Amino acid sequence: MKEIISREIQLKNRPAGIPSASDFEIEKVPVRKPKDGEILVQNEYISVDPYMRGRMYDRESYTPAFQIGETIPGGSIGKVIQSNSDQYVVGDYVLNFSGWREYFLSTGVGLRKVDPSIAPVQAFLGAFGMPGLTAYVGLLNIGKPKENETVYVSAASGAVGSIVCQIAKIKGCRVIGSAGSDQKVDWLLNTIGIDGAFNYKKVDNLTTELHQQCPDGIDIYFENVGGEHLEAVLANMNPFGRIPVCGMISQYNNAKPQPGPKNLTNIIGKRLLLQGFIVSDHNDQRAQFQSDMAKWLREDKLQWEETIIEGIENTPEAFIGLFSGENIGKMLVRV
Ligand code: NDP
Repeated sequence: MKEIISREIQLKNRPAGIPSASDFEIEKVPVRKPKDGEILVQNEYISVDPYMRGRMYDRESYTPAFQIGETIPGGSIGKVIQSNSDQYVVGDYVLNFSGWREYFLSTGVGLRKVDPSIAPVQAFLGAFGMPGLTAYVGLLNIGKPKENETVYVSAASGAVGSIVCQIAKIKGCRVIGSAGSDQKVDWLLNTIGIDGAFNYKKVDNLTTELHQQCPDGIDIYFENVGGEHLEAVLANMNPFGRIPVCGMISQYNNAKPQPGPKNLTNIIGKRLLLQGFIVSDHNDQRAQFQSDMAKWLREDKLQWEETIIEGIENTPEAFIGLFSGENIGKMLVRV
């Protein structure tokens, strides 16, 4: 069999501000034959995720920084194409953390088989994978939605946000979402069917807009964006409201931290709960999450969208596109 060459995307420079294509380079890496107990996997889908921007800074965090010259690690779905392992057969699909590369060898440690009969394999990088679990644990553990409460979701048409919106609807809430284009707003209102949605880029005053969209106030804010969104929300929260702090994508490309919202004192008077969380602390809920999601899917209560960029060489472009809202639903690369 001819030698296998894996094309891999490596970090060339630490980006300053919004990343650019020149911060990455593509390398060709030869892959040897699998030894006894090893498998050779060919990735079919690569996930690009906002948290990766944080790992491009050289600073202390909950996960180590990416290294210059390192192939970017991250979630991928691949197919076993050679197996010298009794745990895997050729054709098995595996969720893996090999990242932005075409092929890799593995003993199976850290891999998880995915079942294509539950959902298309790439959904295990989106709705049925890390972003879906993020939505589930953030909304249910911290938001604790009750029937008829008002839930506001920022970046509502994205991988996490769109699942939050739908679980909140399943729990009987009134759901309002914001997104950065009219097409996304239309998708939120007419495809996944939430109660209200607006294009935040067209709004003069977010506080006033939220007041109009949520006349009875906000009980739960699922925070994906930060900055002005959080300030406008604090002004509109109801007493004893909950804010699962999932992400603050508007801040990720700032070289220096920006001043916080001016109105944090609302947290006291309104007795608000703001709690950050990291999805990987909640792997114990994965089985329950997958069983609930499969049930909601069977009951026709759940759908998702994917934005698929073709070709491993375009992985940096897909990643950079997250910061200008190029995606509806989960942003993926088909290798
Ligand atoms: P998305 O699929 O939502 O993609 C990112 C979206 O963010 C874009 O499509 C864009 O949509 C929006 N966006 C980008 N820049 C800005 C900005 N400056 N202001 C407002 N909106 C912006 O990504 P994910 O669903 O993967 O992630 C959503 C959030 O969840 C992120 O903050 C991420 O870091 C966080 N996260 C946290 C996890 C955790 O464990 N805590 C795990 C996974 C994700 P638009 O067109 O609407 O602007």
